[in-house]
Amino acid sequence: MDYLPLFFKLEDQPVLLVGGGSVALRKATLLTRAGARVTAIAHEINTELEQLLAQHQGEALIGEYHTALLDGKALVIAATDDNELNTRIHFDATSRNLPVNVVDSPDLCTFIFPAIVDRSPIVVAISSGGKAPVLARLLRAKLETWIPNSYSNLSELVGRFRHAVKQRFTTTNQRRIFWEEVLQGQIAEKVFAGRHEEAEQMLEAKLADKNDHPTGEVYLVGGGPGDPELLTFKALRLMQQADIVLYDALVSPKVLDLCRRDADMVFVGKKRDNHAVPQEGINDLLVKYAQQGKRVLRLKGGDPFIFGRGGEELQKLKEHNIPFQVVPGITAASACSTYAGIPLTHRAHAQSVRFVTGQLKNRTSDLNFEELVHPNQTIVFYMGLHTLPHLSSQLIAHGKDADTPVAIVSRGTQPQQKVLVGTLANIVDKQAQAKLEAPALIIVGEVVNLHEDLAWFGEEVLAEHQPDLLPRSN
Ligand code: SAH
Repeated sequence: MDYLPLFFKLEDQPVLLVGGGSVALRKATLLTRAGARVTAIAHEINTELEQLLAQHQGEALIGEYHTALLDGKALVIAATDDNELNTRIHFDATSRNLPVNVVDSPDLCTFIFPAIVDRSPIVVAISSGGKAPVLARLLRAKLETWIPNSYSNLSELVGRFRHAVKQRFTTTNQRRIFWEEVLQGQIAEKVFAGRHEEAEQMLEAKLADKNDHPTGEVYLVGGGPGDPELLTFKALRLMQQADIVLYDALVSPKVLDLCRRDADMVFVGKKRDNHAVPQEGINDLLVKYAQQGKRVLRLKGGDPFIFGRGGEELQKLKEHNIPFQVVPGITAASACSTYAGIPLTHRAHAQSVRFVTGQLKNRTSDLNFEELVHPNQTIVFYMGLHTLPHLSSQLIAHGKDADTPVAIVSRGTQPQQKVLVGTLANIVDKQAQAKLEAPALIIVGEVVNLHEDLAWFGEEVLAEHQPDLLPRSN
């Protein structure tokens, strides 16, 4: 270990900062965040730095660095581009045993600034000992995604109850178990959901040993369209702490792979006309597992509130007083359109967009086609692959131009993504040739023309004159 990580208490400590440019500003920002009183000295000091110092009982001095400025300081930082001056500051400081940092000159530093993840009071510091700062920063980015923002609130809560817990449990082992349950369970989740009072009440009850049979919790999570990189950080976190997972046919295997290894996996998938478990049954399962005290992950394709029956499941949980959280996912319309290079709105072509179900009830549709044919809007049909002949003929019958462009995006965002482009008049024939597979989304409107220019992902399907599937040429 080249450097020992220590956390320096800088509250009200005087610090000398030589330099007045953007690098000095960055250092001053960090130092003042830790409560330091910073004196900056330089021939020129930028206004932002000047204002920052004024706000934090610091001072900005215009002029030449001189040794007397070191008197009474706790720390020295040189952020100038004058090597000679930097070296002088280094020797002045070290001869007085003052910790010194010269920006970008590890040889002249007695301490270095780590990359920081700040969830105060939790602070994570990462250093490569000055050897690979970019690597340290990349690592920091990973940690940023992994540590929820609300860790700050969580550690505040722990801090407030630390004493009481110490009194209640005599051994460190008992305390460790108590805190592990708090930090990995519902109490922590309440804090993350912004329910601070409830969290506090639950912690008090737990401390008084009043909740012997805690109910579980349901996480209704949108798993997105298939590409696992499109998951949210929150979705991933909950996926990795669930005890049991109830998932749909639409959830891609790569997304499922990211669930906690020890979790029980239950397929409740719905394929058209073939419900593995009927909706009522799914609702009952959610209630049953939660009442057994489990953390139940209800994982759905796309977004749970868009053609996902998520609302119905939550109403059932509400009836049984089961706590839940909902995490949005990227819905098929957003995902397929972006991955096909078809902006759903565009100033020149469409000022609005509609998400519509293409599914028929009792073989007829109660869609309001009069509204759907309005100009300057994009229509996105979910679950429309099997009713495509009906949808396209009705749109034409209600006055939509037969040349209106249409795209079918099959298995959007996945390696098997395929896009077929045609018009209302010919898309049915083209699909009869190309036979794109479900799940598929249908996009109708002028914006589809942009696909030719903006396509960037996956394979293209050419079905007009060549029935074969050809790889994209560029
Ligand atoms: N809740 C989901 C939609 C469920 S309805 C969401 O927000 O995306 C199921 C329909 O979604 C499918 O019939 C299809 O039209 C569409 N769909 C879902 N995932 C898709 C994908 N990866 N590619 C194309 N269409 C998809």
